[in-house]
Order: sequence, then C-alpha cells, then structure tokens
Amino acid sequence: MSRPTTWIDENDPLVTRPKVALHDHLDGSLRPETLIELAVDARVTLPRTQPRELQYWLRNFGTVEPGRDWEDLFGLSTSVMQTAAHLRRVAREYVHTLAADGVVYAETRWAPEKHLAGGLRMDDAVDAVWAGLGQGMSDVRELGHPVEVRQILSIMRTGTVGHEVVDAASRGADVGVVGIDLAGHEEGHPARDHADAFHRAEMLGIRRTVHAGEADGAASIADALATCAAERIGHGARLVEDIAVAGEALDVHSAVAAWRAAGADPASLALGDVAAHVRDARIVLEVCPTSNSEGSVVATLAQHPVALLAAAGIRVSLHPDNRMLSETSVTGEMRAVVRAFGWTHAQLRTSTFDALDAAFGPGELRERIRAEVLVPGWD
Ligand SMILES: [Zn+2]
Repeated sequence: MSRPTTWIDENDPLVTRPKVALHDHLDGSLRPETLIELAVDARVTLPRTQPRELQYWLRNFGTVEPGRDWEDLFGLSTSVMQTAAHLRRVAREYVHTLAADGVVYAETRWAPEKHLAGGLRMDDAVDAVWAGLGQGMSDVRELGHPVEVRQILSIMRTGTVGHEVVDAASRGADVGVVGIDLAGHEEGHPARDHADAFHRAEMLGIRRTVHAGEADGAASIADALATCAAERIGHGARLVEDIAVAGEALDVHSAVAAWRAAGADPASLALGDVAAHVRDARIVLEVCPTSNSEGSVVATLAQHPVALLAAAGIRVSLHPDNRMLSETSVTGEMRAVVRAFGWTHAQLRTSTFDALDAAFGPGELRERIRAEVLVPGWD
C-alpha cells in the first residue's frame, strides 16, 4: 500500500525544526485517501475517486470549477465529518500529519455548526474531535514525536449559532478547547455582527481569534479588534493596505513591488492607525502565505506582504490554513518564505517563538515547550 499523503517534503531540513501551528483548519486537512474512504461510508459522491486525481481537483478547484463558491469545497470535507467516528478519525490522523511536519504545538480549528447535519449534538462533536486528538497525541508520543494539540471552535460569519459555540467552548480544558474563531465570508458580513457572542466569550475567559484582512481590507481588521476583542488575527495580509510605501497608499497587489522598488527599506514604510495599533499592541498575525497566494488575496507568492509586514515591526507567524487545498505544511510555509523573501534562520525562529507566545494553551504548557523544545531546537 502506498503511504498516505502528508503534503510534507521529508527531505527538507526544516522538517526537524520544532514548529507551532495556530491557523490549521481540521476540515482543510483531510488526506485525500481518507476523504475517499469516508465518502464511501457516508454515501457522499466526490468529483474524483482516486487520491491523486482528487488531490489535483482540490488544489485546482478555482480553475477546474470556475464560478463555484469556496464553501462548496469545504462542504465536501464536512459532509464526510458528520459522525463521531469520522470526526475522531480525521482528528487522529491530523495529529500524525503534525508529527511528520515537526509541529510540537498546534491549535486546530473547525466549525461545529457545520457538523450537525447527521444528528450530532454540538458537545458530542467537540468530544469526538478531542477524543481523536487525544488518540493521535498518544500515537505520536509512542513514536517519539510528542505533539500537544488543542482545539479552537469557529463561528461562521454567516451563521446564527455564535452563542451555542461559546457555550460549547466554555467547557474549556475538559475538552481541549482553548478559544473561538470567526470564519467564512468576510466581505459583507462584518465581525461586529458577532460582537455579543465574542464579548460573552471574553467575560467567560475564552480566548479569541478572528479571520480578517483576507477578503476585506484593514477596516475589517479594525472591526475584528474593536468589536470582537480579537487577540490574534487570522491572515491579516491586507493590513498592508494601511501602510504607505514611499508616501503612497497602495492596495495589497502592488505594495510589495513598490516596497522592493524602494530598496525594501523599512524606513520607506509609514503605518496608519490600524497597522500602528496592531504593531504597538503586539498582536500576532496568523499569516498563511501559500493559501493567500492562490487567489484569495494575491496572485503570486512574490506579491505576498508577509515580509513587508514583518519589516514594519508587526509580529507575523506562518501557518498552512488548509493543508489539503494548498498541499502545504508549516515546513512548506517556512520554505516558501525562505525562497520568496530570503528569510533567515533568525526570522523563522522569531516567527515560531511569536506563534507560541500568542498561542491560547495554558501558560505552563507553553513555557515548558518554549524552554525544553523550541530553545534547543532553534539554537
Ligand atoms: Zn483560515
């Protein structure tokens, strides 16, 4: 039997560096082999039934299926994740993928409201994911690659069950939940629509991240910070639109070229109010360069503003977003910024430590991982 897909170049020396994954969708991380197997069991029809063909279709969805919504794509994976057994299996295998990627701490996110069509209760779905993550953690510990994984529950921007997700998240450490997220259609569905649920979460001590600055601009990031008390921003790439380059305000497509023309000089950057706040409040962006470069933000990796944002003093961390769709990993994202922007060991190290610093897991766990794993692993 051939080995399952992991989207990781095992020969890349960066594989062995200890890593942190904060923006990693569980329903975007199914191995194609698993998606096919679970689809048979769930009686779901897939567009392709061979792993390699299905992987190609998933990666090229935008061109293979022009005009179709990205949520249709996630509908495929979530349609096979409607039972406790299937959720457990996907979560368990996800931890195996993390271990192969050299990840030592991860927070995987998924939207419980998308997994109730088969009759599961929200709490049962959360329990199932936690059980699968626990099995996976036990498997990889035995193999000598320990990984600590927790879950973040996403609220959909277009949904109406934010408070129920907060209720589920309030069970906290008992089910490995460390926070909530806001995901889905950003444009036309502002974060402030979910301000009540997020403020309740804040009162309950539940940590908060929000997808923003991907399909919409810096104002959407400001909205997430002001109305949802977001502590991290998912993507945040379009924060660059609040940074003038050589005195000129530019959109996300042209900012990097202008910055290169200015000699990539940090002194050529002037931060607006939102960008300055993100920098001064030391908010960490969960940046997903490959995912953003496949059409959601920019057309090519060379246009991606991650290096510009870092040069502007903003804390950035690197994440895969959807491993299955972008055929990537944390290792792959690190390699991508090394190739595209010449990132150094020190820059990769800083982004990794910033990610752990911004993680929502217990402080003593993060401190142990920092001191015992990251420090020796990045010396
Ligand atoms: Zn995402």
